[in-house]
Amino acid sequence: MSDAIVPKVDSPPVYETDEPVLYHAAEGIARITLNRPQFHNVQNSQMSYALDDAFKLAVDDDDVKVIILKSDAKHFTAGHDIGSPGRDFHSSFERRLMWYDHANKGGAEKAYIREQEVYLGMCKRWRALPKPTIAQVHGACIAGGLMLAWVCDLIIASDDAFFQDPVLQMGFPGVEYFAHAHELNPRIAKEFLFLGERMSAERAYQMGMVNRVVPRADLEAEVARVAARIAEQPRLALQLAKQAVNHMETLAGKEAGIDASFGYHHFAHANNQLVSGDYIAGFSGKSMAEKNKEREAGKA
Ligand code: ZN
Repeated sequence: MSDAIVPKVDSPPVYETDEPVLYHAAEGIARITLNRPQFHNVQNSQMSYALDDAFKLAVDDDDVKVIILKSDAKHFTAGHDIGSPGRDFHSSFERRLMWYDHANKGGAEKAYIREQEVYLGMCKRWRALPKPTIAQVHGACIAGGLMLAWVCDLIIASDDAFFQDPVLQMGFPGVEYFAHAHELNPRIAKEFLFLGERMSAERAYQMGMVNRVVPRADLEAEVARVAARIAEQPRLALQLAKQAVNHMETLAGKEAGIDASFGYHHFAHANNQLVSGDYIAGFSGKSMAEKNKEREAGKA
């Protein structure tokens, strides 16, 4: 109704690092390391834009044949940042896609515009980047973390890794990049969403969501071995193979389904705003973690 109702802006973000993502390239392989270890690599916009920069570096470097996305922290990533001091939902960044700035908008428009750019737009952009990508996953890969793993071409996990989308309890159908029913078969995807429980790496492997599961001590070496083998292949053929498979997925409705589900996700954001006054229903990273612990304890 009115653009004038702009929600109150939280205090400005306090970043704990200027390098939320590390980049290293050698011998045909780029390694992109998520680098907010104090906060389990939760993704703020600062990290998402740095990640976009890193992917761009890897794409632009003709010597890079394959890209590994990894973490040296306790976990791969615990999802989107909904509570660290560096949470920067209200901050403007130089946008990468053709969306206008969200920061000075109100109503449901604000989150919708931001997530079109930072979540949906960037995930699609990274999935389509013209070089093979490997997610090297250990520890937690939760909610927004799934989005990062899913846009990679291969997922290689250690046996301690787990995957979880617990956002149903916040009123959402699932995370913004709603690939659940493509990554898992539909019935398993529903179980994954309805229960919001952890899926072990082994189970994810059985479901075809993960390529390989190896002992934690072997993860780095196994990913390096696979990446080196891929790097021996001709660049164009790799890109064509990737594009062909991605196109098959597009023909099977993956992108259209994700786009439609993004609308459901934002209906839920708007409903949360109407019902509770907060677009994520008053949840924070801390309260989500506490709920998760209770649920896991209840299971035991
Ligand atoms: Zn959202």
